[in-house]
Amino acid sequence: MKHTVTCIPGDGIGPEITAVMKACVEATGVRIEWEEINVAWGDAQGNVAGIPRNLIDSIQKNRVAIKGPITTPVGKGYRSLNVTLRQMFDLYACLRPCKLYPGARTRYDRVDLVVVRENMEDLYKGIEYRSDDPVGIELREILDRRDGVRLTADTAVGIKAISRAGSERIARFAFEYARAHHRKKVTVVHKANIMKFTDGLFAESARSVAADYPDIPCEEILVDNLCMQLVARPEEFDVLLLPNLYGDIVSDLCAGLVGGLGLAPGANFGTNIAIFEATHGSAPKYAGSDRVNPGSLILSGVLMLEHLGEQPAARALESALARVVRDGKYVTYDFKQDRSDPSAVGTRGMGEAVIRELRRA
Ligand code: NAD
Repeated sequence: MKHTVTCIPGDGIGPEITAVMKACVEATGVRIEWEEINVAWGDAQGNVAGIPRNLIDSIQKNRVAIKGPITTPVGKGYRSLNVTLRQMFDLYACLRPCKLYPGARTRYDRVDLVVVRENMEDLYKGIEYRSDDPVGIELREILDRRDGVRLTADTAVGIKAISRAGSERIARFAFEYARAHHRKKVTVVHKANIMKFTDGLFAESARSVAADYPDIPCEEILVDNLCMQLVARPEEFDVLLLPNLYGDIVSDLCAGLVGGLGLAPGANFGTNIAIFEATHGSAPKYAGSDRVNPGSLILSGVLMLEHLGEQPAARALESALARVVRDGKYVTYDFKQDRSDPSAVGTRGMGEAVIRELRRA
């Protein structure tokens, strides 16, 4: 069967890793027609919230997309196009497996974690006001009048929004995933001791959903304690369920446990649309240098193949990449002790090695 997939190369290192990912996915023998449409900063005029109309139509039609990272300039009111895409298609569940592949440079022996991050709510809703914004000023006045909360005139305000429905659906996603993938437990992560109503609601919602899954052990942990425990004993965790912002931060921490952002894939799921992308960003300083590790996007391609029902191809591609990493001969600089080690290959070189392994199998 032939699949049609929307492909967004992105910017920075995006186009290089996307080309390698496509070649690797094609080498599995699965027939894919790529509808390649890009979106990047600077070419966003005349579109919906910065997203080109033909890209929206393509994703709606194909229901499966894979994308390279897109740069978001810091500050100046820029809204992330990555976050916009997730919001636009209600991709409420972000899944980020963090698995240790022997050969990766890490301090650990055994890590096999799955981050399930709520993708729509929390501080990522983008409800933020500058200190001089009339809405921000009014908010400060209401808080002062109602609760005696004094915020100085130079205070910008952001709103952390967490709903019961949003928390329950991400919790259900995590427990369904745990059950389908035979994972041993779900750890609910929050800071409800301080954020009693927002994180409190997230925790309470997760608890009520957990009651429907008596076969899957569930525990809770405060996010600060989790960070310490993960660094000390990552093997004690399995599926981590987190609100949006903690999920974003802990994803990078978990990527660090398994050797860095080069082997950290991701997927964003809605009810009937999925967009696959690496955890890392556009690493602008490496753009066009054929230097970075294509592994995260290749592994995102593995998640995409699984989603398309192409399980044997997904397994074959994952083990081809795992063999390349284990052999350590055709790997990028981030696998080397010395980052300027001349024996490192480039992005394309590592992709070619994965394809050779696929053909050998
Ligand atoms: P980054 O993830 O792009 O890079 C941080 C560092 O990680 C890089 O300097 C590099 O040392 C390393 N790294 C990242 N990817 C790598 C790879 N494939 N192989 C080897 N090393 C790799 O983070 P940043 O510099 O904070 O962000 C750059 C831009 O990307 C920002 O504009 C940010 O908003 C954007 N971003 C986009 C996404 C997305 O598209 N989903 C996600 C995160 C960040």
